[in-house]
Amino acid sequence: MQPDRKLSRMERRDFLNGVAVSIAGLWAGACDWAAGGAIPAEAQNAPGYYPPLLTGMRGSHEGSYATAHAIRDGTFWKTAGAPIATGESYDLVVVGAGIGGLAAAHYYRARTGNAASILILDNHDDFGGHAKRNEFRVGGRMLLANGGTQSIESPFPYSAQSRALLTTLGIEPAALEAKCDNRHRYDGLEGAAFFDKETFGVDRLVVGLPGRGGDGEPAVNAPTWATFAAKTPLSSVAQRDLVRLWESTADHMPGVASPDKKERLTHMSYRDFLVKVLGMHEEIVKFMQKATHGLYGIGIDAVPALDCWAIGFPGFQGLRLDPKGPGGRLSYTARGSFTDEYAFHFPDGNASIARALVRALIPSAIPGKTAEDLVTAPVDYAQLDRGPVRLRLSSTVLRVRHVSPGEAEVTYGVGGKAYTVRAKSVVLACWNMMIPYLVDELPAEQKTALHYGVKVPLVYTQVALRNWTAFHTLGVHRVTSPGMYHSSMALSEPIDIGAYATAHTPDEPIILHMLRTPCAPGLPAREQQRAGHAELLTTPFATFEQHIRDQLGRVLGGGGFEPDRDITAITVNRWPHGYAYEYNPLWDPDWPPGQSPCEIGRQRHGRIAIANSDAAAAAYTDVAIDQGYRAVDELLGAG
Ligand SMILES: Cc1cc2nc3c(=O)[nH]c(=O)nc-3n(C[C@H](O)[C@H](O)[C@H](O)COP(=O)(O)OP(=O)(O)OC[C@H]3O[C@@H](n4cnc5c(N)ncnc54)[C@H](O)[C@@H]3O)c2cc1C
Repeated sequence: MQPDRKLSRMERRDFLNGVAVSIAGLWAGACDWAAGGAIPAEAQNAPGYYPPLLTGMRGSHEGSYATAHAIRDGTFWKTAGAPIATGESYDLVVVGAGIGGLAAAHYYRARTGNAASILILDNHDDFGGHAKRNEFRVGGRMLLANGGTQSIESPFPYSAQSRALLTTLGIEPAALEAKCDNRHRYDGLEGAAFFDKETFGVDRLVVGLPGRGGDGEPAVNAPTWATFAAKTPLSSVAQRDLVRLWESTADHMPGVASPDKKERLTHMSYRDFLVKVLGMHEEIVKFMQKATHGLYGIGIDAVPALDCWAIGFPGFQGLRLDPKGPGGRLSYTARGSFTDEYAFHFPDGNASIARALVRALIPSAIPGKTAEDLVTAPVDYAQLDRGPVRLRLSSTVLRVRHVSPGEAEVTYGVGGKAYTVRAKSVVLACWNMMIPYLVDELPAEQKTALHYGVKVPLVYTQVALRNWTAFHTLGVHRVTSPGMYHSSMALSEPIDIGAYATAHTPDEPIILHMLRTPCAPGLPAREQQRAGHAELLTTPFATFEQHIRDQLGRVLGGGGFEPDRDITAITVNRWPHGYAYEYNPLWDPDWPPGQSPCEIGRQRHGRIAIANSDAAAAAYTDVAIDQGYRAVDELLGAG
């Protein structure tokens, strides 16, 4: 029912502040700030430094954004004192160690040779940007999850250069997909929906959501919407509407040509389509409200109906819209509609791509050679800032400016102090909305364009469970819960790769993935996203934990689940600034080619080029790689 692409497929931790205290304490001791001009000893060099194992509040973790917010608010320089010159000089400085920034470093080296000196700076305590790895130890066993970016897949085919990059890194998605195929692991388990009493009057888990078997394909003897609807606590009218929504072939826009129907659906939300065109009961709207959360980060009130048609939502059967014909306008995501077969999910998501890039750039940091050995390979963080390519974590870039036509100065902040390095070229592979604060010398029009998009907030919560017997008893592997704090949950995608294997039997430990996308239904998309940012910044881990325990107890209690006994660790990956903002036909104009904010915003400025998925207004890994490629191309072509 919920086409949520991005949601597919320690031993008992100390919950204090959501951070494993022993590890955090170890790092704190490593930060001894030297007086004067010396660069402070980096936390990442401390023995045992390994952020993927940290639990509690991750993603935009505490300590990662305070400096950036102080720059935005104009307060940083009041207390920082004059920047300290490190005396370091590089061929290239990359701001942002996400996949786009790491790809830019790769392309720069590929074009200029391995002798190029490169410094990559990132404000987080780990590399990868959104492509972060979560790691747990349960009963001595390694469990992996994606802290953000989930899979290699995109609405459009990967470009020649992004495919070539994956090949260079030893990642062949189709071959890996064939080799690691575990799609029958959950055979016999079904999708389910949980109706909560606050929204639907009663707590009820209804197993047998039509349309998906254990492997995501329609199940043999799949339940029908009629049998499903009859088991729900929905009113009889709403039950009939639910079946009608999926099965009716009536044309609700009789006499209107397909292009005109598409035009109307472009400027109408899916919610309005359900209510005003199909006449659906309000309970159906409640049931469907969050169905778009995984893919868009906002509800059906803010996603155009035509997009929902393109990504396979129900209700359009009778309209007989021409799939290839003209009319209407789709967002980037819906335009491609996931036709490419180039797809693969690593156990830690696309963090594996980030790790593969770091291994190629700094071989001493990560051993091994193949995509398979990468998954369990340890990372020696102390190696990251030593060689010709350096990756410096927990370092927020504050200012980038030209000191001559051929040289820029990059200032970054650590521990309340500012440091400078020099660079012949700079790639800003960070978020668009930060760039105007960093590069004062940019033209005003470019700054305005960079401020246009508002990144989409999302939370990927990963819960380590002692076992999944409750799921097995209930006969479910994923549950949609439209009224609850997390709108869906799913057992981790089964995958055995290299020395790593996910649980084969229900008595083995497993990761449960949960999704929450904070937003404010009823407002325009960008305002919803701003409201989501504010919510995430002010919600402590304890609130998440309380909701998770309550939700799992209520949804899975019938299968014998006991939160206190069965949950061993929780990592809340909070991404206030998540997906790149994609233009939404409900609110955004149809800019002529070259005139959209992302195109104006990404113009090269002297020795400074701009990458990141924001630069293409599309939230996909291949897009981030392509933008890294373009930025380097602009710099090296620029002479
Ligand atoms: C939860 C989630 C799930 C996703 N799932 C998928 C998926 O399944 N498949 C897919 O293809 N795409 C997915 N995406 C989108 C994909 O993650 C991104 O398009 C891509 O990884 C972005 O890479 P990037 O390098 O452009 O940016 P980021 O990954 O955002 O990296 C930019 C880095 O720059 C840092 N930075 C910002 N400002 C500064 C500064 N001033 N100084 C230093 N550093 C700074 C940021 O903190 C960040 O670490 C997902 C995104 C999210 C948030």
